[in-house]
Amino acid sequence: MASRGFTTTILHSDRLGKPEHGALHKPIHTSVTYGYDDVQDLVDIFQNKKKGYAYSRQGNPTVTALEHKVTNMENGMSSIAFSTGMAAISATILALIKHGDHVLASSFLFGNTRSIFQSYIDMGLDITFTDATSIDNIKAEIKDNTRLIFVETIANPATQIADLKAIGELCGQKGIIYMVDNTMTSPYIFKPVNVRASLVINSLTKYIGGHGNALGGSVTDTGLFDWSNFPNIFPTFKTQVKPEVLGMTQIRKKGLRDAGGTLSPEAAHSISVGSETLALRLDRACSNAMALATFFEAHPLIKKVYYPGLESHPQHKLAGELFYKFGGLMSIELDNSIDCFAFLNKLKLVVKSSNLGDTRTLAIPVAHTIFNELGAAKRAEMGISDSMIRLSVGIEDLEDLLEDFKTALA
Ligand SMILES: *Cc1c(COP(=O)(O)O)cnc(C)c1O
Repeated sequence: MASRGFTTTILHSDRLGKPEHGALHKPIHTSVTYGYDDVQDLVDIFQNKKKGYAYSRQGNPTVTALEHKVTNMENGMSSIAFSTGMAAISATILALIKHGDHVLASSFLFGNTRSIFQSYIDMGLDITFTDATSIDNIKAEIKDNTRLIFVETIANPATQIADLKAIGELCGQKGIIYMVDNTMTSPYIFKPVNVRASLVINSLTKYIGGHGNALGGSVTDTGLFDWSNFPNIFPTFKTQVKPEVLGMTQIRKKGLRDAGGTLSPEAAHSISVGSETLALRLDRACSNAMALATFFEAHPLIKKVYYPGLESHPQHKLAGELFYKFGGLMSIELDNSIDCFAFLNKLKLVVKSSNLGDTRTLAIPVAHTIFNELGAAKRAEMGISDSMIRLSVGIEDLEDLLEDFKTALA
């Protein structure tokens, strides 16, 4: 299937597993546990000697089918699905990092990621944040015990773009795990494996599921990181599985199984169906976003537009080199004369809502909501102003979106 196109591959991937009765979708398997005639089969599954299912917290056939899809989309080696994107991030860090290790993260992070990292700091992990748009900042913060670097592709809400390629090269040279949160771009627009990412995070809730009707997350191993000498692998696993799969074995057992952020088979099915139209939805969302960004930039009542597709964006050129399209997310800052809440309340079509990557266009004042807990100082450090509104552009007809914003600004 590798030579086929992105959408073709997603559409036909369930049938490769030959579901019962010729079904085109992998059925929703709801069984919590799995029984075997020969106890040796059960033992082999527990000991990682055989693929199969024992207890659904750490694996389920419907979820496996979705994991294969994500792996195909990311050109990866294998994937593990979680109940949410946050479960994927928190469990992966928990599984791989130990006290005494250092983690370096971008200062421009999704609010809840920043918050769980703070909780890990409070538990004694050494995590530092730096402006990852420049490799020089990363180099300045690297220590001998830096084990993992965490960045997002296009940061939310101010759309800063990490120096993705240079960080990948540095991680490769130094044997550091390079973990890239690809949620904002999705594998249709960007494949982090191409910049030598080790692990790729996706919130499946966002563009991949796409309809705002199911939560999910995933981590994909690109196959580029050499796990054979990674010191934090649980010793028993080294006797059971091949070196290539040590990282994912550790994440599945110590992350998914032990922390328990399991994706339900029903949600896996919804996300799987949604993912079939990822490319079509994003094509439309990206073209709507570009048109809206151009409209806002020319509007006298809009002070600033953050969108990588605009030439005024500081990393516009880099974005053009790295990404197939510029994405569906943007932020705007209103002129001081306009009240941010009053403007939002005038929107009739655009929904005041916190999700992103939905088919519908959603708007949220970020300083007052998602980033409220952080406090003013950290918000300033992350480039988040009080009048900033984040827009997740959907797939509506462009004229209707323009009309809604024009009226609200009139
Ligand atoms: C939404 C989001 C997450 C978390 O995903 P959930 O599925 O909501 O838990 C992580 N990273 C980024 C960049 C996100 O936008």
